[in-house]
Parts: sequence; structure tokens; C-alpha cells
Amino acid sequence: MDSDHLQGRRVVITGGASGIGRVTAEAFVQAGCRVVLIDRDELALRQAVEALGPTTVGIAADVSDPASIHDAFSGVDRALGGVDVLIANAGISVRRRFLEISSEEWRRVMATNLDGVFFCAREAGSRMMEGHGGVLLLMGSTNGLVGYPYYASYNASKAGVIELARSLSIELAPKVRVNAICPGYVMTPMQEREYTPAMLDKVNGTIPLRRHARPEEIAHLFLFLASDRARYIHGQALVIDGGELAGG
Ligand code: NDP
Repeated sequence: MDSDHLQGRRVVITGGASGIGRVTAEAFVQAGCRVVLIDRDELALRQAVEALGPTTVGIAADVSDPASIHDAFSGVDRALGGVDVLIANAGISVRRRFLEISSEEWRRVMATNLDGVFFCAREAGSRMMEGHGGVLLLMGSTNGLVGYPYYASYNASKAGVIELARSLSIELAPKVRVNAICPGYVMTPMQEREYTPAMLDKVNGTIPLRRHARPEEIAHLFLFLASDRARYIHGQALVIDGGELAGG
């Protein structure tokens, strides 16, 4: 990856203290970017910022709370003087039979995965539209493209993110470039919390490449999509799934 294309860019990553967000932050720092991590896990956030070094700032905030995100972006302004790239990555997943999903749980998943992306895209998008433009990268999932049992709330939230990205790509163009990223299975703390070793083997057997993605592989896609090399990729839901959806 030619890092010159991203040198000096101001990048905001939500959910940046763990998993895909944390590894993506590392990749952008290595590419010469100034990075703000937004996350609700304050301890993990402090540890991430310490490890990533002086070009990274951490802001504790809850993406599901518009006031918290408004304040967080005031912090982004103070730290970076604006934003060139938003990676709206924070999300949660709840495995539950549809008939057992409570209203509170449904709302919590939507509030984090869909409302949270909306609040952050609105803050970053308004700054980009007033300034020199930018790139919005919204975290979807293959779960937003096809149905999976026991993840109805998660699937619906991710389908919403994908349609949000498509809508913004029309409304905010040509100043702001917008895409959704749709990973299949990625080995992160989110997956580790849910799997037994037997479940992991079973899932890997359904993936043509026979393994989960590594977070670094998702980070590389973010790097490419944020860079000028991807300047004609717009309004897409980009799948990175080891071939999982190829069979229909
Ligand atoms: P992780 O749980 O490892 O990391 C997510 C981070 O986001 C955590 O630090 C988490 O904090 C934080 N977070 C959660 N809710 C909020 C909130 N309301 N406000 C601020 N921060 C919050 O997850 P992954 O890295 O696996 O997932 C990242 C994204 O990628 C998610 O949107 C997920 O849906 C998506 N994705 C993941 C896939 C996978 O297989 N792992 C596949 C496809 C998409 P806390 O620890 O406190 O929850």
C-alpha cells in the first residue's frame, strides 16, 4: 500500500479501541494520518492511544447518544481542526431467537449500529460539506445483505447502514465520497465472545477460504477506500467475506 496517498489526512474511527477499529487505527497511523479514536470503553481507549503514539487522540463517547457525539466532534475539531475521513465502525451484535428479542434489546442494537452511524456521519458530513470534502466509510456487514437466523436486529441495523451509505452517496456527492463496507466473519473480540471452538469450526467450514478474516485484512480495505486511488468507488456496499456469499 502506497501510504503517500493518505499522509496527513485527519481520520476519525469510532469503536477504535477494539477489534477492527483498533487495527484500522494502527494502519492509518502507519500511513501518516492523524487519528481520533471514539469509543465508550475508556480503559481500552487509553491503552490504544498509548500504544498508537502521539498522532492519536482518544475521545470517550457513546455513538448512540447524539449529544455525546456532538461533543466528541467538538473534540475532533480541537484535536484535528476538521475531518477528512470517517470510519463509522462502532457496533454491537446480539445473537437471539427472533421471538425472544425484547424491545429494549432491539432498540439498543439499532441505537448503536444504525443511529450511531447516522449521528457520526451527520457530524463528519457537515464538516466535509463546509470544507474541502472527504470520505465517509460506514461499517455494514454481509448480515445486511442476506438473512442469517438469530441475528434479526443486527441484520436489520446493518441493512439500514448500507441504505444510508447509498443515500448519502447521492446527496453528498461530489464533495463527499461514501461507501459501506460489508465484511463476513472477522476474528475479533466480538466473535470471540460468541463462539465455542466447535462453532468456530462449523462456521469456517461454510466459508470457501475456510477461515475468518483477520482484522488487518479489513483495515487494508479501509486504507484503499480512504485513499485517492479509490476516487471513483462511490455508493457501494463492498463485500470482503472470503467468498462466503458467492454461493448465493
Ligand atoms: P469489537 O467489539 O471488537 O469492537 C467494537 C468497539 O466498539 C468496542 O470497543 C466497543 O466497546 C465499541 N462500541 C460499542 N458500542 C459503542 C457505543 N455505543 N459507543 C462507542 N463505542 C462503542 O467489534 P468488531 O471489531 O468485531 O466490530 C467492529 C464493527 O465491525 C461492528 O460494527 C461490527 O458489527 C462490524 N462487523 C464485524 C464483523 C466481525 O465478524 N467481527 C463482521 C462484519 C461487521 P465495548 O467493548 O464497550 O462494546
